[in-house]
Amino acid sequence: MNKKVVLKHGKEESLRRYHPWVYSGAIHHIEGQPDEGDLVDVMSADGTFLAKGHIQIGSIAVRVLSFDKNEDIDASFWQRRLKTAYEVRQAIGLAGSADTDSFRLVHGEGDGLPGLVIDVYGSTAVMQAHSVGMHTCRHEIAKALAEVLPDLVKNIYYKSETTLPYKANLSDSNGYLLGGAAEDVARENGLRFHVDWMGGQKTGFFVDQRENRALLEKYSRGRRVLNMFCYTGGFSFYAMRGGASLVHSVDSSARAIDITRANVELNFPGDARHEAFAVDAFDFLEKMPPRESAEAYDLIILDPPAFAKHRDALHNALQGYRKLNAKAIQKIKPGGILFTFSCSQAVNKDQFRTSVFTAAAISGRKVRILHQLHQPADHPINIYHPEGEYLKGLVLYVE
Ligand code: SAH
Repeated sequence: MNKKVVLKHGKEESLRRYHPWVYSGAIHHIEGQPDEGDLVDVMSADGTFLAKGHIQIGSIAVRVLSFDKNEDIDASFWQRRLKTAYEVRQAIGLAGSADTDSFRLVHGEGDGLPGLVIDVYGSTAVMQAHSVGMHTCRHEIAKALAEVLPDLVKNIYYKSETTLPYKANLSDSNGYLLGGAAEDVARENGLRFHVDWMGGQKTGFFVDQRENRALLEKYSRGRRVLNMFCYTGGFSFYAMRGGASLVHSVDSSARAIDITRANVELNFPGDARHEAFAVDAFDFLEKMPPRESAEAYDLIILDPPAFAKHRDALHNALQGYRKLNAKAIQKIKPGGILFTFSCSQAVNKDQFRTSVFTAAAISGRKVRILHQLHQPADHPINIYHPEGEYLKGLVLYVE
């Protein structure tokens, strides 16, 4: 008999609207003693089947894999979901593109696979599980991936050490599931970069900024560029190709700065326009030249890590965005362009915009919004799961 999660009376509404999560507070009782990560059926109080998914410990108790009673979660299920995800990337024009071989193939709920992320870099897929259920299924998923995309995926690196629930105490959370020791250089819009999937943050590169970097390139000609929170230098090498007169990359991680230097060198060997600094962003902003100085920057990128990982941290996060943006708006050269981002899922578009608005008001400068930016199409949002929207950005013109 299937293991079951039975909801309290009236708590089935969100599932009827295909929201893919069951909160622990909605549960009346659990049958069959499932372990964390097991597949369970979710039933309404009157015994009607609603969905099936992976059970987990925490406020999200079940992540739904299917709303169809007759859909088995077997090899063909994984193949179907992965194949559809690939078809979406073909429709976008990413899969098979000549100058870009790095993209997100699976974006969790956005691709009907809650708790799973897969990024592709050339012939390597980097797979990340955020739930014990996906961890348990990792070999099946890897097998399905190799079967569905045999020409594309030659290596699969599994990297979940930092994303799985700490308390689950799982082993084998990092390592190759297929192939190994692959070429670590990938391409994006014709630019090349090293991807450190073994030691780097997330899956090794932030593919979600691809389109925003391309936009930045168009604004770079002749400008003095400051790329704050540069990680592996994505925005920096686009700015250089766009004709920036100078590019300064800043990140507090020395390792990220080393990779940034290597990436700039890969694309623009010996180019003296670039310098990188392993220092704290707030210190750097404090000490950087004022707007009147000839040395002031006139194109600044602020792409900090998620300040709010949870809703409880929201207030502090908004304060962080305000402080950061206030410094940049205050010091950017007249006529300067600011690309400013938030990747905190807990901070919505309006809240982010309000904190940037407050920052602008503190400076007293005239500020126009030129563009409102977001995550690209290979990070799709499941329409029934608006929580999947996380990346937002503004491009400002500061008089
Ligand atoms: N813009 C990058 C992604 C940024 S990720 C890209 O396009 O790839 C956020 C980065 O902020 C990380 O590399 C992290 O090391 C860095 N970081 C976190 N706190 C910092 C701080 N206080 N000062 C400078 N960098 C910081």
